[in-house]
Amino acid sequence: MIRHNKTPLALAILITVVTCQYAVAQKKNIVILATGGTIAGAAASGTQAAYTSGAVTIDAMIAAVPGIKDMATIKGEQVSNVGSQDMSFEIMLKLAKRINELMKSSDVDGFVVTHGTDTMEETAFFLNLVVKGDKPVVMVGSMRPSTAVSADGPLNLYNAVGVAVDPNAKGRGVLVVMNDWIHAAHSLTKTSTTAIQTFMSPLRGVVGVATYGKNDFYNTPQWKHTSGSEFDINGVNKLPRVDIIFACADMPADLIDASVANGAKGIVIAGVGNGNMNKASLDAAANAAKKGVIVVRSTRVATGSVGRNVEVNDDELGFIASDELNPQKARLLLSLALLKQRSKSDIQNLFTTY
Ligand code: ASP
Repeated sequence: MIRHNKTPLALAILITVVTCQYAVAQKKNIVILATGGTIAGAAASGTQAAYTSGAVTIDAMIAAVPGIKDMATIKGEQVSNVGSQDMSFEIMLKLAKRINELMKSSDVDGFVVTHGTDTMEETAFFLNLVVKGDKPVVMVGSMRPSTAVSADGPLNLYNAVGVAVDPNAKGRGVLVVMNDWIHAAHSLTKTSTTAIQTFMSPLRGVVGVATYGKNDFYNTPQWKHTSGSEFDINGVNKLPRVDIIFACADMPADLIDASVANGAKGIVIAGVGNGNMNKASLDAAANAAKKGVIVVRSTRVATGSVGRNVEVNDDELGFIASDELNPQKARLLLSLALLKQRSKSDIQNLFTTY
C-alpha cells in the first residue's frame, strides 16, 4: 500500500499563505496627491517639444508605473491639474490642509505629491513649513511629458513612493525626488529650464540618492520643519501679499514704491550679489520699511547666503537678511510670518531657523 504523506505539502501551503499575508500586512499605505505639471503632461507625439501640462489623471499616471503597487498600497487623489506656473496660494493651502487631515489617519503612512517643476521648490518649502506630522511627504515631477520617448515621470514616481515608504525618510522634512536624487525642501532649486537633471541643492548637497525604490540617505537638514514648525494654517484662507523685486544695474527704484502703493505687506529684493541694490532702491526700500513694510534682502545669485550688515546697514535701515533662502522661498516664509504680529528681530530669527 502506498501511503501519501500530506504533511509537508500542507505545511508548505501554510507557510506560503502566512508569508503572503505578512507581506501584505507589511505594505504601507501611501496617498499620492496630484496637482499637475509636466509629469501629467501630454503631447501629440513622443518627440516634440510642445506639450500641455496637467493633462493626464493621477490614475493614468499610477497605471503607467510597473511594479509601483508591489511597493505600497496606493491611493490617488486629484487636488488640481495645472502647470505649476499656475500654482496658487489657494491650491497650496488646499493641498497642505488635505495632508494635515490625512496625517492624522492611522490608515495613511506617507504622501507623494506630484507637481510641476517650475514652482516645485516653492510648494515643497511651503509644505515644509505648514505640514503637521512626521510621516514622509515626498514631492515629485518630471521634465518630459508622459507621452515622451524616455519619459522620466514613471521612474521618478516609482522612486518617490520608494522614499515615502522608507522609515529613514522620517524626520528630514518635505523631500523632493527627481532624477534619482533626494533633495531637502529648504535647499533645492531648479537650475535648468529643460535638462532632466534640473534640481540641485547648491549649498547643502543632496539628502540622499534613490535607486529603483532603494535609498541611501547621506544627511539630515538642520532647519526646523513640519512637526517642529510654529506655522499653523488652520483657518487661514489667504496669505499676506509679499512681492519680489528683481535687482539689476540701473534698477528703477519706483518698482518698490509701486509695490507699497499696491498693498504689499512685505517686499523681497532679489538683490545683486550679497543682497545688494542701488542707492535709489536702498532709499525706497528704507522708506517702505519706515512705513511698516517688511523688507527682506535675498539674492538673484544661484548660490551663497545673504548676511546682515555686510554692504548694507540692515540695523540702521530696518531690513531683514534672507540667509540661505532664495527670493521665492523667502517670500513664502515672510508671508507666513506676517500672519501674526512679530518684531523684526523675531522675523530675522525665522530666516536662520527655517
Ligand atoms: N511648466 C511645467 C510645470 O511646472 C514644467 C514642469 O513640470 O516640468 O508644471
